[in-house]
Amino acid sequence: MLESLGNLKRTQYCGSLRASDADKDVVLMGWVHRRRDLGQLIFIDLRDRAGIAQIVFNKEQQPEAHAKAEDLRAEFVIAVEGRVVRRQKSNPEIPTGEVEVIATRLHVLNNSKTPPFQIENEVNASEETRLRYRYLDLRRPKLHSNIELRHRVIFEIRKVLDELGFFEIETPILTRSTPEGARDCLVPSRIHHGQFYALPQSPQIFKQILMISNMDRYFQICRCFRDEDFRADRQLEFTQLDLEMSFPRQQDIFDVIERVMERCWAVIGVKVQRPFRHLAYKEALKRYGSDKPDLRFGMELHDVTQFFEPARATLHFEGNVQAVVAPGAATWSRKQLDELAEFAKSAGARTIYTAKVTAEGISSQLEKNLGVDTLKKLAETLSAEPGDLIVAAAAKEQIPHTDTSLHVGGQIRLHLGDKLNLIDRSKWEFAWITGFALFEWSETEKRWVSAQHPFTGIYEEDIDKLEAAPWECRSKGYDLVLNGNELGSGSIRIHRQDVQARMFKALGLTDEQAKHRFGFFLDALTYGTPPHGGIALGIDRVVMLIAGEKSIRDVIAFPKTTAAVDLMAESPSEVDTSQLDELGIAIRKEAE
Ligand code: ASP
Repeated sequence: MLESLGNLKRTQYCGSLRASDADKDVVLMGWVHRRRDLGQLIFIDLRDRAGIAQIVFNKEQQPEAHAKAEDLRAEFVIAVEGRVVRRQKSNPEIPTGEVEVIATRLHVLNNSKTPPFQIENEVNASEETRLRYRYLDLRRPKLHSNIELRHRVIFEIRKVLDELGFFEIETPILTRSTPEGARDCLVPSRIHHGQFYALPQSPQIFKQILMISNMDRYFQICRCFRDEDFRADRQLEFTQLDLEMSFPRQQDIFDVIERVMERCWAVIGVKVQRPFRHLAYKEALKRYGSDKPDLRFGMELHDVTQFFEPARATLHFEGNVQAVVAPGAATWSRKQLDELAEFAKSAGARTIYTAKVTAEGISSQLEKNLGVDTLKKLAETLSAEPGDLIVAAAAKEQIPHTDTSLHVGGQIRLHLGDKLNLIDRSKWEFAWITGFALFEWSETEKRWVSAQHPFTGIYEEDIDKLEAAPWECRSKGYDLVLNGNELGSGSIRIHRQDVQARMFKALGLTDEQAKHRFGFFLDALTYGTPPHGGIALGIDRVVMLIAGEKSIRDVIAFPKTTAAVDLMAESPSEVDTSQLDELGIAIRKEAE
């Protein structure tokens, strides 16, 4: 028989019980985590938001409560009245382990079907099942604490930005397209048939307009929508910390974000090192083969093309050759080397070349192509020591102005860093990446496109190259990276209307197209726009890293799958024909 809550008042959380609570009368409420029936005694692990407490039902002392406890099953919702006592044998595994509650009364508030998986940190259910029953999944302590952590981090961001004089301002969700390089999510208008709102890919234009409106310092914890093709660990909708400032130097924006990061990591008791280091994009690529380098370990790339050049024909390689020195890997077996070669291929290398450095000399199949002397010189240049393995890979330039060998080398570096345990997992290596090019070549569109977005500032000296030599234009953009992850990007913006108009032109928009899509913004820019700049950081990724998780789905309460499906709510879904009629929409049947 289910009972109502009535006037029963909870006195505290189960998880908050400590030795100092001994002899207290308490009322606890929560879910039956586990039940052990020893006949005379029934033990219940009772779970609530704060943790688990042990409840004891004694047949002799409280026959009525004990009889009811016999019917309890996992995930039933109960209230327990009782007295806290010290346990005879404490359980150091849980924070409440020194005490237990001797139940005097039991109220069964609700029952539960048998859950499809156990509510434990380690579950053997598939992610699909977990997402379908997300409400149960979220009861698991780890996931539960991730969501709490997310709250703490976001709350801290709000606090620090308020202290720094930022206003939190909401911008529209139903808006028009702003270009961040992805497809828009569209919402049809019922009132204006044939017209659509776009969900924001970011509040970029609105936040710039807020600077024109003299808001001076804006931020928002905002949802953004990007309809990209399925990629691991991307969400159709995701959360950004979006921020903009008027009259800033680049360093002012960096200072604000560094303080925000400092406070976020302080939530888990980590003190981050400030100021963050700065790295030019080209240097990052040259040394680490990545625009989001993992700086927790060295093993930098070296361009060794000159050593391989004489053997270009016999080795049949194209492009440049990058090498790294893998410490201690000279002892690697054939199998390990084959695996490495396999990985290098998947990263885009045609083949890899290895050379083992030993006390006796260098052993490598390259000897016949390069000769002993060259190999020795190579090892010397790379400062390779006995016991090390030299790993080199070539890759052909496939994208104009991009040396792909660097990207391939970068992936090999990360792979080796992981395999050789070189990555210090306790480190938090933040860095600002600057010095990007303003444009990048799009192979699919066969034209220059914004490397970031069309509002990114350009160096004054380069403005006149916008039309003639776009590839030479330097951007005022920057990225924040951490341990091999990009946390976000931003820039000092274009604030002059004439430059913005030229930028649209350089991107291939006619005056009419620019006016049609961005007319309101181009207009706004003419009314006294202050120099301004900002940034947006991915909150999901920030929280994921702080929580030590590998997937952003583990720090989002209701994530979608990589196929953009909400398995619990079953969206997207079909809608009634009457709804479509109202919107003036007909669904075209796919040709059979
Ligand atoms: N709107 C940009 C983005 O979402 C960030 C920025 O430039 O502030 O990536």
